[in-house]
Amino acid sequence: MDDRIKQALIDIVGKPNFTDSLIDLVSYSYDASDHDHRPAAAAWPTRSEQVSEILVMANEHGFPVTPRGAGTGFAGSGVPVRGGLVLDMCRMIRIIDIRIPDRQVIVEPGVVYADLEKALSPYGFFFPPDPASGKVCTLGGNVATNAGGIKGAKYGVTKDYVLGLEVVLPDGRIMRTGSRCMKSSSGYDLTRLFVGSEGTLGVITQITLKINPRPTATRTALALFSTLKDAGRAVTGIMHSGVIPSVLEILDENTIRALSEHGGMDLPDVTAMILIETDGYTDTEASYQMSKVAQVLRENNATHIQEAASAQEAEKLWKARKSAGSVAARLRANNVSEDVTVPISKVPDLLTRISETVRKYDLPFVIFGHAGDGNLHPKIMYDRTDPEQVRKVQKAVYEIFKLTCDLGGTLTGEHGIGLAKAPYMHLEHDPVALDLMRSLKVLLDPNNILNPGKMNLDR
Ligand SMILES: Cc1cc2nc3c(=O)[nH]c(=O)nc-3n(C[C@H](O)[C@H](O)[C@H](O)COP(=O)(O)OP(=O)(O)OC[C@H]3O[C@@H](n4cnc5c(N)ncnc54)[C@H](O)[C@@H]3O)c2cc1C
Repeated sequence: MDDRIKQALIDIVGKPNFTDSLIDLVSYSYDASDHDHRPAAAAWPTRSEQVSEILVMANEHGFPVTPRGAGTGFAGSGVPVRGGLVLDMCRMIRIIDIRIPDRQVIVEPGVVYADLEKALSPYGFFFPPDPASGKVCTLGGNVATNAGGIKGAKYGVTKDYVLGLEVVLPDGRIMRTGSRCMKSSSGYDLTRLFVGSEGTLGVITQITLKINPRPTATRTALALFSTLKDAGRAVTGIMHSGVIPSVLEILDENTIRALSEHGGMDLPDVTAMILIETDGYTDTEASYQMSKVAQVLRENNATHIQEAASAQEAEKLWKARKSAGSVAARLRANNVSEDVTVPISKVPDLLTRISETVRKYDLPFVIFGHAGDGNLHPKIMYDRTDPEQVRKVQKAVYEIFKLTCDLGGTLTGEHGIGLAKAPYMHLEHDPVALDLMRSLKVLLDPNNILNPGKMNLDR
């Protein structure tokens, strides 16, 4: 990128909102995945019009632009793999409007998930997707990856809450999608096209989200199992029982051991643990649901079931679950963290078969995840300076994706495709669907300037 282009970018966003300093560019080389590539410059736009001008320029001069939120993505979708400009959206942080009677908020994309939670709390409302990275990730990143979290089984994922968007298209046009209504059957659903598009089709500059009244009563419990199969069957049984828990999480024995040995937690030495939360608007409602869940747990050979006696005790359990990934990551210098998802009835098969598959490669691994919506996180730790370990990880990951897709599952329940899963798109999508995705990319971005190299979209 030559100095004239850099000066033109400064003219658009102002000097304090532009950088080409090495220390910044190294930071922008990464997200939370195992991929990296340094950009030539980064800019912090503060208005949609600036984004528009930058994209017009990018088409004229042929440089790539990669939108970015907080850089917490696990799939490399925010890594500027072809260099060019990183468009950091973290200075567009206004919560523009909270409309409680309409059950809606309008936000800019750089608003951090937890900041929206804080703003909604006094009204007794919440935005349910709740990714574990919520303290730092942005709502723009959540929409662009269709993020989910531990409440997915009952409350769904980001796409279930996006009512409308303002998007700057790759050619610089500013477009509004959706409506302010709770429902609409008007025209193609352009909003959904951009949710989960990982910054490849447009830059999201404003988001209208549906919000929910926050349940006021919860019950939390843990159940222990001596086999993964029993734990998996309990998950399926609970989801068929007529009760939908607000949280239904599973941890395998390696995760439990990692939390005990490296996470300072005092957990029993068992093969699998399930954590459950039920919620409602009265104690009776939440307790009734938990009693039904406990019955299913017993029927599926739970060796121990314990309800949290207090909110503090429940908080301790959720802390254990939320730190599972970061504690396991300490076992080696590098890790891959997948988010494969299967139909709920296939959870027992996926759990046991991932475990059998990865065990043969003799690398540390853990499996935990949002079992209630069929979403598991196998995480394999390794050292990327050792070619033999890299080869083993690649083989294990391929096998996990293959068996997931053979079970009728998807490569990604919440993290997106990015760079990490791009080579495996053919395992899940048929050739016609892949061709249509590539045609849409070409239609909207004929010069391939917006986040190129991702999702296997290049022709
Ligand atoms: C510890 C940890 C826990 C996590 N837990 C979860 C979890 O529970 N659930 C989950 O779903 N994910 C989880 N993640 C992954 C990650 O936090 C999510 O994918 C999140 O949605 C990314 O948000 P971000 O702001 O960091 O986006 P980034 O990583 O910066 O970007 C992600 C993608 O969105 C695009 N993008 C960002 N902003 C815009 C915009 N305004 N317009 C267009 N495209 C844009 C980028 O180009 C990129 O393709 C976790 C990550 C970590 C590190």
